[in-house]
Amino acid sequence: MSRDVFSIDLEHAEAILPRYVEAGPRYTSYPTAPVWKETYDAERFRADLGRSDVAPGDGLSLYVHVPFCRSLCHFCACNRVITRKEELPARYLDSIEREVVAVREAMAVPRTATQQHWGGGTPTHLSPFQVRRLFRAVCDAFPMREGAEVSIEVDPRVTTEAHVEALRACGMNRISLGVQDFEARVQDAIHREQSVEQTAALVEQARRAGFEGVNFDLIYGLPFQTVDSFARTVDTVLAIAPDRIALYSYAHVTWVAKQQRGFERTDLPDPHAKLRIMLMAIRRFLDAGYVYIGMDHFARPDDELARALRDRTLRRNFMGYTTQAGVDLIGFGPSAISELRDAYAQSERSLDAWEAAVLERGLATMRGHQLTDDDRARRWVITRIMCHGEVRAPEYREAFGADFASAYAAELERLDAMVDDGLVERDSDGSLRVTSLGRLLLRNVAMTFDAYLPQQRRSGAQLFSKTV
Ligand code: SF4
Repeated sequence: MSRDVFSIDLEHAEAILPRYVEAGPRYTSYPTAPVWKETYDAERFRADLGRSDVAPGDGLSLYVHVPFCRSLCHFCACNRVITRKEELPARYLDSIEREVVAVREAMAVPRTATQQHWGGGTPTHLSPFQVRRLFRAVCDAFPMREGAEVSIEVDPRVTTEAHVEALRACGMNRISLGVQDFEARVQDAIHREQSVEQTAALVEQARRAGFEGVNFDLIYGLPFQTVDSFARTVDTVLAIAPDRIALYSYAHVTWVAKQQRGFERTDLPDPHAKLRIMLMAIRRFLDAGYVYIGMDHFARPDDELARALRDRTLRRNFMGYTTQAGVDLIGFGPSAISELRDAYAQSERSLDAWEAAVLERGLATMRGHQLTDDDRARRWVITRIMCHGEVRAPEYREAFGADFASAYAAELERLDAMVDDGLVERDSDGSLRVTSLGRLLLRNVAMTFDAYLPQQRRSGAQLFSKTV
């Protein structure tokens, strides 16, 4: 699959793709977060955590959100708190320790974890001592299993050698570096100065310390980017040779990130230029031997994500693509999301509201969703599209005892235009396959099966970023 994406007709892609540029979810969940309601509160989450049909041996994934950053990158739409005050991280640690204990106590059986990921914000905004304290608090409640994947997102501008040592001492084995773009003009516009040397030195330290996997996050579509300028960034990245690369589309979501209004519209590459930048980067990654995992992720052929793609065990959750199929995910910290077998729950977004809720009742749930039978079936279909690029009708029948083509006759009819454009192929039993070109538009294909999207579109609310 990796090579055939490379073999797409770029002229055809440039002609077709602009027609599919529309706002749409990234499907790290289904139903997506805007559907969730406040009626799903901390007590309902507590009840779902306490369900008794979970075995201690079942997999468990943990996410820890550390919201602090030293300065604001102007493209950023993450949930973060820009601060240099020391008392905020100290208070945060007290609260998250309380939250971890509350979740552990709500569970019917003690559980060990198969995966842990720290994101933000900037987790290495915490001092090495604070990193150790937080890791200990999480693992005291949920011991990590042998061979677990333990990963962290870091900002090379604030991550020291002492951090790297502390992270490894905790047992972290994967590290993800925010890079975005190495060009000075772009870095100036996005308010993020980060040299190649600084980034390469951190990779070197991480590899020397024993990290098994290094990921780079890049963004295309930023102000002043051109095909040539981003090609230089891509070539520099390839010379450093991370194990995984995430190539995100810049999301212009000014209703979430007001500071993005500071980007003069004329500074941003137009949709055609943005598309050409993306196709150039994909071409170079594949040429360098990376496998296209899906949407915006690339990995070396021996990486476990690439293996999971080949074995059809790849899944998607709030951390993106994952090898952890069908396991509960518990999120800690402000805005963190938890995904249980039949429910989603999200904690209060602001640091103050989250702290107050944790202090009052241990759990800080502000909204969530209990899945219906229809949600479960559609989630299955959307996950297959996003992770495998196909839906096999016999597998749908086995999972839900129903005929896929009959159950989704209207949706399949709506896919006809994508079939005509060479994005999707259909079999007589209704099975569908996303083509090489269509893999660049997985979100658009999945959107066809989203039962909530028509109403969200009618409401006119700005909820999602653009699909390309
Ligand atoms: S991009 Fe990362 S470092 Fe920059 S403000 Fe956002 S979360 Fe913080």
